[in-house]
Amino acid sequence: MTTQLPVNALTVDVEDYFQVSAFAPHIARSEWTSRECRIERNMDRLLDLFERHAVKATFFTLGWIAERYPRIVRDLVDAGHEVASHGYGHERAHDQTPEAFLADIRLAKMILEDLSGQEVRGYRAPSFSIGSRNPWAFDALERAGYRYSSSVYPVRHDHYGTPDAPRFAHCIGGIVEIPPTTVRFQGRNWPASGGGYFRLLPYTLSRALLRRVNTVDGQSGVFYMHPWEIDAGQPRVPGVGVKSRFRHYLNLARTETRLARLLADFSWGRMDRVFARQLAQPETLQGVQFNDGSAQRSAESGTLGRSQPKPC
Ligand SMILES: [Zn+2]
Repeated sequence: MTTQLPVNALTVDVEDYFQVSAFAPHIARSEWTSRECRIERNMDRLLDLFERHAVKATFFTLGWIAERYPRIVRDLVDAGHEVASHGYGHERAHDQTPEAFLADIRLAKMILEDLSGQEVRGYRAPSFSIGSRNPWAFDALERAGYRYSSSVYPVRHDHYGTPDAPRFAHCIGGIVEIPPTTVRFQGRNWPASGGGYFRLLPYTLSRALLRRVNTVDGQSGVFYMHPWEIDAGQPRVPGVGVKSRFRHYLNLARTETRLARLLADFSWGRMDRVFARQLAQPETLQGVQFNDGSAQRSAESGTLGRSQPKPC
C-alpha cells in the first residue's frame, strides 16, 4: 500500500527526561549527575521496537549522554542506525555565543565520532533553537564539519519556530537544512512531525497529516521523538508549570503503541539515506540566505525565509 509513497525519516533526540529545555529552570545542570538516569532502558526498548519493524533511524545524540553511556552509541552502530549530533550540553543555540556554540557542537561531534568510528554528518539543535535570531549557527555548523541540520522548525510556537522558513530541504551556505515536517493549511504551517503533537493528537490525525505530506506535497516527512516519551514511569519533576507539565507528561503510556502503528503504516529510513540525493547534490536545492548576505550582521535583524536564494 505504501510502496509508491516517499520513505520518511525517523529521528530520535537522545536525551534523558531531566535534560529537556522546559525543565531547565527547575533542574540545574549540576544536578544532572545525581538524577536517576533512564536513558539506557528506554533506548533498549526503542531499539527493540525498531528491530521488530525492520526500521533504521537517525539518532541525534547528546555528547553528554554518549560520554556516560557509550554502549548506546555502540548499539546504534551495531544495529545499522545513523549516529548524529544533538550537541554536547543541550543548551539552546540562541542562548549561546557563537564561540560557545561552536565549541559545543565540535565537542559533541568528536565524542560521537570517537565512539562510533564513523563520520557524524547531521545535527539538530536543542528545542529547534536555530532560526532568524541566530543565522550565524549555520556558519558554525559548516566550520565544525557538519553536512546537514534539522533545526529550523517552520511553525509558530511559544518556544521556537521560524514560520516563514522553507518547509522542505534547502541549503544555507554549506549546510543542507532538512526541517521537521509541517502541513500547510489555511495559509499557515502546522506541526506534523512528532514530539508532543504526536502524543496530543489522535493517532488517525497524525497519520492523515503525514500521509498528506507524502501524497499532496510528494515529499518525505521528518518525524522526531525522544526516548523519555515512551517512559510513563519516569520520575515527576516538581515545581513545573501547568503548560510544561501537560506537554511533557501527556499520553506517555500510549506512545509506544502509537509509535508501533506509525512504523507499520509508513516506510521509514535514516536521514542520511532518505535525503541522500539532496545531500549529494545540494546545488539542486533552493538556497536561502539572510537578508544582507552576511550571517554575522543579519543576526541582529535578519529574517530567514524571506531572504534571497543563494547558490550552495
Ligand atoms: Zn533535545
